[in-house]
Amino acid sequence: MKYPKPSLLIFYGSLATLGFSFTFTLFFHLFISKVDSTLFFIIPILGAVFVYITFRLLLRKFVEHRLSLLYRSIQTKAEDSSVAYEDESLDGMIENAEKDVQDWQSKQDQEIAKLKEQENFRREFLGNLAHELKTPVFSIQGYILTLLEGGLEDETINKKFLERASVSTDRIVSILEDLDQITKLEIDALEMNLEPFDMLKLASECIEGVELRAKEKKISLDLKHVTDDIFVNADRKRIAQVLTNLLNNSISYGNEDGNTTISVFVVDDLVTIEVSDNGIGIDNSHFPRLFERFYRVEKSRNRHEGGTGLGLAIVKHVIDSHQQKISVKSSFGIGSQFTFSLDKA
Ligand code: ADP
Repeated sequence: MKYPKPSLLIFYGSLATLGFSFTFTLFFHLFISKVDSTLFFIIPILGAVFVYITFRLLLRKFVEHRLSLLYRSIQTKAEDSSVAYEDESLDGMIENAEKDVQDWQSKQDQEIAKLKEQENFRREFLGNLAHELKTPVFSIQGYILTLLEGGLEDETINKKFLERASVSTDRIVSILEDLDQITKLEIDALEMNLEPFDMLKLASECIEGVELRAKEKKISLDLKHVTDDIFVNADRKRIAQVLTNLLNNSISYGNEDGNTTISVFVVDDLVTIEVSDNGIGIDNSHFPRLFERFYRVEKSRNRHEGGTGLGLAIVKHVIDSHQQKISVKSSFGIGSQFTFSLDKA
């Protein structure tokens, strides 16, 4: 049921008082003693005006007091709310309070949704982390137990098992290093060391860094550019990490005798960098989650490659902190292309 506005209620009350005083004056005039004709009208009108003013004042005080208590508990208005109401009518006060409460509620709803999302993220992250660490830790445990139970004396396995345990240790170390890097990126997101540098030189250095891995898989690495001396304004160390991660992925998920190309070109004030390969490719259904921590397209395949599942998460973090975007184009079985841009220096 919709109630009329408070000012209208007071008005109806005053009208009722007017009617009642008029009937009472008439009754007095007819049955008790004669009343002067001017008083006949003045008494009811004065009564109604008195009721109107008094009720308006009292109701305003009451509403003001109650609202200030309410506002104080939801903390959306100044503590001394009487100041805030000075220019407001009684109806306005109530309408504004309704609106403020609705705003407050939708803000609370948003806050709750955000907290729930963070909680889910935290739970999923811890689950993933435990899962990632479990495999190498269990295998180290297995090798150590076998060695302790007599394997240490067995020349055919002792060295082999120690080597395998060492590979698993390396895997744990690389997961921890990547995690450490992500955490640092989150903490120092604002502390970017922006400097102008030669993008082509950096790309060549990164190619050199992964050359050995590429050779093992007979993957050729190329750098394409239309102009020389392409300078960007960015954090050199972090961009080196981005390129290395993308190059490493193109090798891990590339086919033997394949090809990876870094293309650098300038579009207006931006330098666009593309890392493309003709590897196994990614189905586009994976695109929305590809840059999430620990997300893998195909669980067993990638673990086999020894990736931490954090490479693209780091890449995205770095590009985001440069206020730039990274995008992916890929077709399953054909190849992938990762593209990002940086400010031209
Ligand atoms: P990982 O350590 O598993 O490589 P990333 O975050 O670097 O983790 O990559 C996430 C997933 O995206 C990989 O597991 C892989 O399935 C897919 N991926 C990344 N780059 C490529 C690529 N160039 N070609 C095909 N798949 C890729």
